[in-house]
Amino acid sequence: MADLSKHYQTYDLFLRKAKKEFESVIKNEMVIGGNIEQFKILKILGTGSFGKVVLCKRISEGDKLYAMKIMEKLNIIKTKQLLHTISEIRFLDAFKFPFIVPLQFFFKNNVYIFIVMPFIAGGEMFYHLRSMKRFDEDLSKFYAAQVILAFEYMHTLGVVYRDLKPENILIDVDGYVKITDLGFCKKIDNTRTFTLCGTPEYLAPEIILSQGYNYSVDWWALGVLIYEMAAGFPPFYAKEHMKLYEKIVSGRFACPPHFTKPLKDLMLNILQVDRTKRYGQLKGGSKDIKGHDWFKGTDWDGILNKRVKSTFEPALDNVGDTKYFESYGDIVLRESVNDEYADEFADFTLVSKKGFM
Ligand code: AMP
Repeated sequence: MADLSKHYQTYDLFLRKAKKEFESVIKNEMVIGGNIEQFKILKILGTGSFGKVVLCKRISEGDKLYAMKIMEKLNIIKTKQLLHTISEIRFLDAFKFPFIVPLQFFFKNNVYIFIVMPFIAGGEMFYHLRSMKRFDEDLSKFYAAQVILAFEYMHTLGVVYRDLKPENILIDVDGYVKITDLGFCKKIDNTRTFTLCGTPEYLAPEIILSQGYNYSVDWWALGVLIYEMAAGFPPFYAKEHMKLYEKIVSGRFACPPHFTKPLKDLMLNILQVDRTKRYGQLKGGSKDIKGHDWFKGTDWDGILNKRVKSTFEPALDNVGDTKYFESYGDIVLRESVNDEYADEFADFTLVSKKGFM
């Protein structure tokens, strides 16, 4: 194991401070500021399960670009996503971490709620992974290191992420990642949770088997992500979900021959069905992963402070270049004279009443 004691010392201190800050922010009332008239919508960047994300400008700020998630209140209620939506906004607002997309503005009108974030111009990791076929191990390691640091941050705050996948990792202009879509984040502290959520290929065996779970599911998903980045396809795959789940709970997978020995070894230790043997979950926690041979030579503090140069930076023609996003056509916003679902969306602060904490 590499000697990372200096990094652990400074990072533990950083995390302890971050936890205090998070706890004071999450208790406070949330600032709801701005309105849709202040923004000019330019084009659709993406469609999530529960809304659309558009590129926009804040008129008073000139050319500065933002990504705005527009969610219809009616749709949130119909699909029973009120709690997830409230958590997403609260966590976006409260997390302060270089590899997690931050909230910039949040407001609502009679029909929609609007979540405004910085525009991350490199688009989804998914896009780049498909176009490069696979990432070399150095680039996979660079991205994995950022996800690990972000998970250490979230888990220290008592929050499990539950939705890791290449679609939810955006690549910034400097080549660093920003994790997005916090809809499945949940504050669990030292408890367990049972909800079935996530993306089939990334589900941990304990979720499929309806066993109570905690942070272990994020470490499993990290294993799936590292495998998919380095191989170009996920470790467990089947067209039918039932077959896929059988493969996941069996824990049997094969590594491509080009995987290096340390990578194969890391995969065997993270993609462990038995949680008492899974890296990330043992006494050493995430340190077992960070100290593994595959990460030998990784400059954790350098990555955290973005001193390490990424070997891949998106090739953008200008700040508003959207070449890494598909074209989705125009968005037409519905209007209403009534404040729809006013009661349900009245309060994003008394979250305990709605079961968030
Ligand atoms: P989501 O509903 O959060 O999963 O977002 C749907 C899609 O919109 C993402 O997969 C991205 O392609 C895009 N997107 C979301 N947030 C941003 C952002 N801050 N900057 C650029 N694109 C984004």
